[in-house]
Amino acid sequence: MMADFPLYPARLPSPPQGMLTGSFTSRLKLRRHLVLILTAVFFISGIALYTAWGFYVRVIGNQMEQNGATVSLILQDALERAVKLLILTRPRLTEEILHSKDSAQIDAVLNSCMGEFGQNNKGDQFDFMILLDASGRLIARSGEDPQRRIDFSDRSYFTDFRNNPDKKFTVGRLRVDQITGRSALHISIPLKDSQNAFLGILALQLDAEKILRQLQEILTHTREQVVLLKPNGYTSFQYPLNFTPGATDADLLKRSLLIQGLIVNQKGDRGRLHRVSSDGHSEMTYAITLPEDHFGLSTSVLITTRDMVGLFLKENTILFLSVLIVILIISLLFCGLSTQARNLEKSILETKTDPITGLRNRSLAHEELPRLVSHALRTSSPLSVLFIDIDHFKSFNDLYGHDFGDMVLQKIARSIADFSSRPLDCCCRWGGEEFVMILPETGAEDAVKIANQLMECVSKIHLKEMRKTYHNPITLSIGVATTTLCPEPPGALIIRADAAMLFAKREGRNRVVLAPEPGDAYCAECVVYYEGCSLTKEALT
Ligand code: GH3
Ligand code: MG
Ligand code: MG
Repeated sequence: MMADFPLYPARLPSPPQGMLTGSFTSRLKLRRHLVLILTAVFFISGIALYTAWGFYVRVIGNQMEQNGATVSLILQDALERAVKLLILTRPRLTEEILHSKDSAQIDAVLNSCMGEFGQNNKGDQFDFMILLDASGRLIARSGEDPQRRIDFSDRSYFTDFRNNPDKKFTVGRLRVDQITGRSALHISIPLKDSQNAFLGILALQLDAEKILRQLQEILTHTREQVVLLKPNGYTSFQYPLNFTPGATDADLLKRSLLIQGLIVNQKGDRGRLHRVSSDGHSEMTYAITLPEDHFGLSTSVLITTRDMVGLFLKENTILFLSVLIVILIISLLFCGLSTQARNLEKSILETKTDPITGLRNRSLAHEELPRLVSHALRTSSPLSVLFIDIDHFKSFNDLYGHDFGDMVLQKIARSIADFSSRPLDCCCRWGGEEFVMILPETGAEDAVKIANQLMECVSKIHLKEMRKTYHNPITLSIGVATTTLCPEPPGALIIRADAAMLFAKREGRNRVVLAPEPGDAYCAECVVYYEGCSLTKEALT
């Protein structure tokens, strides 16, 4: 037989009060525990990582300081040897030679000094020696005779003396040499006559890349950058050079200014790890600045936060993996537990569910009624029970078959559930074609009203099979019992409602009967009737 409405519960968009939705309490509790445990795991891992990070920062700080000191020492060694060569050369350039400005003669002196020094000392890091006159023009250069008197007056190793003639030596800034095309730095000393007049400078060009190679042999590979800055902020040397091939002098200058911007904020606070940023550079950088050496160069060691975090992650891979594995194991464990809980809840719910209507079975009334009755007594609020029986239900089965009977049951169950709409209301299938509604905070008058509305609602249920028969409309017999101020056992409330329903049947069905209060003399007739149905006064009280 075809139904003219889909089978319940597929029809329900959201199960109404009294229909079983499943209790998710234990799964919610499990989820709450999972969240708590995961929070604890994250918290503990966070503290562990924070401690590890603090330790790592100290280790990196020490390593940076050591590398900075090594670079500074190696450069100082090269500069000291260079100063020695310049000082040895200076007396050989007599006033007479200098005044003559004879390039070939001066060049010969420079060459011979370079050669002699190279034999006795490690001079392979020196490119050449140059002599500039008081206006900064090139007079002589060891190795070859300069064709033109190039103007070097803008070089820092020259301008330093022009601005401060009493200086003993000066170190220039890192630059790309126009002749060799390699990065280089210069150290220079002033040349003066007997009247202490400034005659020019004698400078030595050092090959920065050769010094770098020497450092590479000593230092292990690190990601930090060591920068040696002049007091005016220009870079004299850096390790590693980190220049793209073919970098121009302008590139070096730009980078020098950038690094200067990075460490300028923490110049006054030396020897400590800092977090600094510069306007031109978006990356956060940790920096350490060591005290100035006797060439006036201050050594700063920088490492970008990104590199530092990268190294930290690399070194703590095991810690991170362990945390991930712990989180994974906990999550899997909880997933398993949640599935178990869901299955358990499902089977518990199934034992309490009426499979045909989807309503709770009689167990609901046994569970809820005592609690609701005692609540009603404590709060002095009324509670009503409706005992509902479908009239002549047997004939539905007899006429149209049991499937059709089931559909009628489902349809009526749906209406009953709709009328139990308040949060504390509950309804169940009592058995067969009987249903019970428990309505807290509902007095007799309201309960009768609801019963009448339910009857009206049910009477509007039309199924196409019923059109041809006297079964249109479906009617109910409803007994209503309401709690009184005198306490009575919860079961007695059901018995009174049931008795009232039976009275309604006897009176002709399709009606609502309100049960009298226990021992109510006013309704002696009802009591007699109850007795006729084997119910004694004692049972009612
Ligand atoms: P009354 O008006 O006196 O209540 O008459 P009635 O036919 O409704 O009552 P009766 O107790 O004589 O018959 C109840 C019938 O309900 C008997 C049984 O076939 C039917 N029934 C009980 N449970 C189910 C069910 O789950 N599905 C179907 N289709 N019918 C059921
Ligand atoms: Mg019945
Ligand atoms: Mg019936």
